[in-house]
Amino acid sequence: MQQSGRDWSPAEWGLRWLYDQPEVTVVLSGMNSVEMVEENCRTASEALPGHMTEQDQAVLETVRSRIREKERVGCTGCRYCMPCPKGVDIPGIFRCYNTMFIESKSQGRFQFAQTVGLTKEPAFATQCIGCGKCEQHCPQNIPIREKLKEADRALRPLPYRIGIAAARKFMFRK
Ligand code: SF4
Ligand code: SF4
Repeated sequence: MQQSGRDWSPAEWGLRWLYDQPEVTVVLSGMNSVEMVEENCRTASEALPGHMTEQDQAVLETVRSRIREKERVGCTGCRYCMPCPKGVDIPGIFRCYNTMFIESKSQGRFQFAQTVGLTKEPAFATQCIGCGKCEQHCPQNIPIREKLKEADRALRPLPYRIGIAAARKFMFRK
């Protein structure tokens, strides 16, 4: 994106792509700083349908295909599969698994420890009983049960498994 000649942030690229579609009239965006509100207001006032050039579209396509090449599960984080009756954090596990390949193994495992491994209520893939409820709701048709096993093997090799179990014991002792 740096080579595109645009000074748009990644969030602005995403919003601009949405505003570029003539079918889209409203865009909802999560914001947690004044700067983000200002950027989003500016983007909304500038970005009309059809404003993106062919070169802009080519930049987006390049980014999209690079991410697709690297990600292991095409999970969009929509959470339609949730809640899992056994408490498995399905989108959280897939996000960390993808991070291992899009960013780095250590970053994916670090995120996993922070957002899944050390939460008060355990949310591990190994809690899955294979009921298949989640797969009925996934718009991406992800074979969730199979992918959870694959993700868990990558995210929690034995030393991590032992480390996380020990940390949980210490943090949540009564
Ligand atoms: S198949 Fe596993 S992850 Fe999916 S809803 Fe059932 S228990 Fe949860
Ligand atoms: S429904 Fe599918 S795409 Fe959406 S969060 Fe769950 S696994 Fe990911």
